[in-house]
Amino acid sequence: MNSTDNCMKRWIRPEIRALHAYPVPDASGMIKLDAMENPYRWPAPMREEWQQLLGATDVNRYPDPTAKALSLRLKQTLEVPDGMDIVLGNGSDEIIQMLAMAVAAPGRAIMAPEPGFVMYKMIAKFVAMDYIGVPLKQDFSLDMPAMLAAIEAQQPALIFLAYPNNPTGNLFSEQQVKAIIEAAEGLVIVDEAYHAFADHSFMGELGNYPNLLVMRTLSKLGLAGLRLGLLAGSPTWLAEVDKVRLPYNINVLTQVSADFALQHAEVFAKQTAAIRADRTLLLAALKEMPSLEVFPSAANFILFRVPEGQGSDIFDKLKQSGILIKNLTPQGGLLQDCLRVTVGTPEENQAFIKALTTLL
Ligand SMILES: *Cc1c(COP(=O)(O)O)cnc(C)c1O
Repeated sequence: MNSTDNCMKRWIRPEIRALHAYPVPDASGMIKLDAMENPYRWPAPMREEWQQLLGATDVNRYPDPTAKALSLRLKQTLEVPDGMDIVLGNGSDEIIQMLAMAVAAPGRAIMAPEPGFVMYKMIAKFVAMDYIGVPLKQDFSLDMPAMLAAIEAQQPALIFLAYPNNPTGNLFSEQQVKAIIEAAEGLVIVDEAYHAFADHSFMGELGNYPNLLVMRTLSKLGLAGLRLGLLAGSPTWLAEVDKVRLPYNINVLTQVSADFALQHAEVFAKQTAAIRADRTLLLAALKEMPSLEVFPSAANFILFRVPEGQGSDIFDKLKQSGILIKNLTPQGGLLQDCLRVTVGTPEENQAFIKALTTLL
């Protein structure tokens, strides 16, 4: 063992050394249905107008640290209730990190149902907090007795509830989410990353609970490349979260581009309506395959289970035929033999269905 290695082991915390960096597979040349991206580009005139705007943007200056213009536009477009504030993040991943940094202390915990979004657990590790993963029930609904018992026993500082949940795609019961918010002494963050594809939101509930915050992102809507997420809630909470935000976390190109994109909200409304309609078709096509178990989805992806023991094999063969989806089998537990496909264009969805049919 060389001395760099020894030195590293002395200083990098064991829980960090035990982590694997978030894996992002190479998708060049593939039909990419793994990451819940919107498959559609912008209409040509809109792209041209945007390019002109970017051409007139100065990059020699630091961006507006509070992104005033963009924040105002977001509050209007996302219908943030009066009296509530927002904080912006470099993707909602950064917001999870800011929340964790603001509350982290020895012995404090982050809690989330599992299977769920992996960054809650990763970020708990980053900031040396405990993590409590409470298993969902077999049908991916919340296990309320287990959730309430864990809250009472451990009083987590933060509870994340993805609504709809990733990777399962379902919306939890609104009444149960409210019961969790009421039972928790810590903050409950309803993560609405897939809001554009669901019919329910907790945004309107912000004023009703002192410990509720709502997180959104523009990634799944169609702006994943810009990295912009936001946290909405009471100014009392957000002023504290804002203190751990790095001063220029939203770069000037993102500020200009997101503000421009939101002025064309109708383009995204049209795209997401098409994705929702295609989700219905994709669900129906998957349900026609008798060997699959297909789970309901309020998001822009669908989770399904293939026959026992075949998850990784089917995933690999799809990949060999040029179609990249997400293999959840390695996560085990309730996700054994489960695969997740993002709703793509009609052509992409058909290619996926065709390839899958030949493998079953
Ligand atoms: C994708 C996703 C996010 C993160 O999105 P960003 O691209 O970092 O804004 C957050 N929560 C859930 C549940 C997600 O699926």
